[in-house]
Amino acid sequence: MAAEVLVVEDEPDIRALIVHHLTRDGFRCRTAADGLEALAQLHAGAPDLVVLDLMLPGIDGLELTRRLRAEPAWAALPIIMLTAKADEVDRVVGLELGADDYVAKPFSPKELLARVRAVLRRARPADDGRALAGGEIALDPGRHRVTVAGTPVELTPKEFDLLHALMASGGRVLSREHLLNRVWGYARADEIESRTVDVHVRRLRAKLGAAGRRIATVKSVGYRFESE
Ligand code: CA
Repeated sequence: MAAEVLVVEDEPDIRALIVHHLTRDGFRCRTAADGLEALAQLHAGAPDLVVLDLMLPGIDGLELTRRLRAEPAWAALPIIMLTAKADEVDRVVGLELGADDYVAKPFSPKELLARVRAVLRRARPADDGRALAGGEIALDPGRHRVTVAGTPVELTPKEFDLLHALMASGGRVLSREHLLNRVWGYARADEIESRTVDVHVRRLRAKLGAAGRRIATVKSVGYRFESE
């Protein structure tokens, strides 16, 4: 069945434009004009992805993202934020809160579609058990095995899951919140829990030796795996 996208945008023209292009590309769409309506739509049934404008009347996009990530049921729901071009702060905050990606307005429908497809593809990377490689690091989920330049590396289950999440993300920045949810199953992160991620990343890097540099710190957001 076609993936379903919930489009949350208060401007009718932009909402209609997004729905038009998504529908033409084979997606099913539902819409909401503000945060409250979005919550009602979500409670009526889970979409596969949310396209969420940040500037909304009432509950804005950041607040809605925060609320969704605080609920275990919605913690892993893919979210693409629509942000104003100049709003770098909102973008960083949004990613910190756990949005999966953002598209800056004004955007081309083609770009938005590409992001939607990419985020949906990445939303279930852990399910397919396929072996991953990044530079000299190879990870085989089926055998729960990691090697660096052919030499096996002993990782704890959390370290393994953390590396798996990073390698499976296709170079995307993963926020600490996302990693806490994905690897530790926490619905929301406080200061101490965020440090848990940092501590595990540090240990993981140390075990990977020189290859550990591939896990790059993205200041004030999280981590990214660099396979190049
Ligand atoms: Ca708006």
